[in-house]
Amino acid sequence: MIKIFIDEEKCTGCGECIGVCPKGPRIYRIVEKNGRKVAEVADKSFCIGCTTCVTACRPKAIRLDRGW
Ligand code: SF4
Ligand code: SF4
Repeated sequence: MIKIFIDEEKCTGCGECIGVCPKGPRIYRIVEKNGRKVAEVADKSFCIGCTTCVTACRPKAIRLDRGW
């Protein structure tokens, strides 16, 4: 089972992950936490482990654990 971790300290809430992911709007959402916008994983079950989001995230806030 794939796990997606977002480092909220690094995330800028830019939304790039949603834009590049083939299932972006299903997997990610941008929420406000402590007055900052950050990405949150809404439903990781749509993730195919392509790592496009990891590459696209400029602050390197996304980490995937693909379990293999
Ligand atoms: S691309 Fe990275 S920095 Fe931008 S919202 Fe997604 S996780 Fe946060
Ligand atoms: S690894 Fe691919 S499918 Fe999974 S969240 Fe990132 S861009 Fe989307």
